[in-house]
Amino acid sequence: MSNQTRAKRIAIEPPHAEPTMSGWYLAAGPELSVVPQVGDIECDCLVVGGGWMGLHAARRFAELNPDSSVVLVDAGRIGNNASGRCMGFVIDLAHNPRKQDFVEDIKGNKEELFVNLEGIDYIRSAVEELGVDCDWDPQGKYHSAATDHGVADLKRFSEALDTLGQNYTWIEREELQAMTGSKHYIRALHHPGTILLQPAKYLKNAIKALPANVTVHENTPITSVSFGAPRHVCETPTGTIRASKAIICASGYLTRFGFFENRAIPLYTFASMTRPLTQSELARVGNKRAYGLIPANSFGTTVRRTIDNRLFLRNVYAYATDFKTTRQDVMKARIQQQVAFDRRWPELSSIGFEASWGGLLTLAQNGGMVFGELDRNVYGAAFCNGTGVARGAAFGKAIAEMASDRTSPVIDILKMRASPSRTYPKPVTALGVRIVTALRFRQAGAEV
Ligand SMILES: Cc1cc2nc3c(=O)[nH]c(=O)nc-3n(C[C@H](O)[C@H](O)[C@H](O)COP(=O)(O)OP(=O)(O)OC[C@H]3O[C@@H](n4cnc5c(N)ncnc54)[C@H](O)[C@@H]3O)c2cc1C
Repeated sequence: MSNQTRAKRIAIEPPHAEPTMSGWYLAAGPELSVVPQVGDIECDCLVVGGGWMGLHAARRFAELNPDSSVVLVDAGRIGNNASGRCMGFVIDLAHNPRKQDFVEDIKGNKEELFVNLEGIDYIRSAVEELGVDCDWDPQGKYHSAATDHGVADLKRFSEALDTLGQNYTWIEREELQAMTGSKHYIRALHHPGTILLQPAKYLKNAIKALPANVTVHENTPITSVSFGAPRHVCETPTGTIRASKAIICASGYLTRFGFFENRAIPLYTFASMTRPLTQSELARVGNKRAYGLIPANSFGTTVRRTIDNRLFLRNVYAYATDFKTTRQDVMKARIQQQVAFDRRWPELSSIGFEASWGGLLTLAQNGGMVFGELDRNVYGAAFCNGTGVARGAAFGKAIAEMASDRTSPVIDILKMRASPSRTYPKPVTALGVRIVTALRFRQAGAEV
């Protein structure tokens, strides 16, 4: 390595271990054997982070460069990260929880849709062409209201959809209650286009379907990096990886690699899942085999009935100092999930939850995202801003194409996006987020 440019070595604090396992991960089939990185290895491209972004970046880079060696590392188990802990809505038209009617300007939305559809197509190709099993269910999503103010929110949302020329259908009380078995809901808007899937199952199976020129090392945090030429030098607890190119898809942790410092707003949101329901319990949760309900109010409760007959609820946002959450935070949120469950299916209350967990969402003050070449031969895609499945796959695919010197309409759109702005000092941001989330949670009322 005598020609190695001297580069500053950055020590990187790895992500904390999650305090609880995700129910999706536990239900996603047998554990794959784990192969942490050991010794001194070289590769053409190192991808850091095995979420929606990183996994698809690794796949795409390997597809476009079949003679190159690609190494994908993740600090933990792929599928037990935020990506595998999500609700599994692969959303075409992502709703922006910051906006009252959920939507951006018309141009922003059309671009968002275009990008997300590319992400969905790429995920679909893994399912259809590579045989990745993930309980794929292209039934769309139900934006569901439990209160009059929720119905008013849905009306505003429908007007925005009209402006965008989107199709949707209103579902009235009787049909909705028959579908869900819950007297809680009073009206819903069905928007097609979204896919439901089991995210941990997808990620676990997608690792096995990666091209042969990708090597995956889980439980392998990058603990320091020196970006430079001809190779970047990355240390792990048990070795060194020298890579000509690096693609960093480490969500908010990307800021620890020396980029976009003080720009990430780390939030956790939480979910709980029941065991599979018995036949008699299933008779109480409606006549639709599986569904996904997005709350009319963005601080309400998201619900899924899964193909394997579980009920699954997500609510509560909490500021996560240094990207960390605790078991106590998870258990506090679980109480809110039980409250939400009891509102919807009081007669099933005693079932309780089999698993409860949290997952990281990285936001930016201005809604900006990381996409592009961050330094010479260092690329980054990160900051989901709330929804990151379809968007994450599209970002990952596009960043790998950029790193392969390709162009595409999606790259053109993403290059024009605002990058994350600087946050207020940490204590101010933390206090601000805590006040706003508590207030909006209270305002959401029975939508929770
Ligand atoms: C409960 C919950 C429900 C959600 N529901 C939905 C939904 O239904 N639809 C939707 O679109 N979005 C949803 N989201 C958001 C979505 O999960 C995220 O936007 C998405 O997972 C972000 O993907 P990512 O690839 O950017 O990051 P991540 O999944 O966070 O992956 C980043 C990876 O980087 C790794 N990493 C970090 N630092 C290092 C290091 N030093 N060395 C090695 N590896 C490192 C981490 O271990 C991690 O695996 C939800 C999120 C949560 C928490």
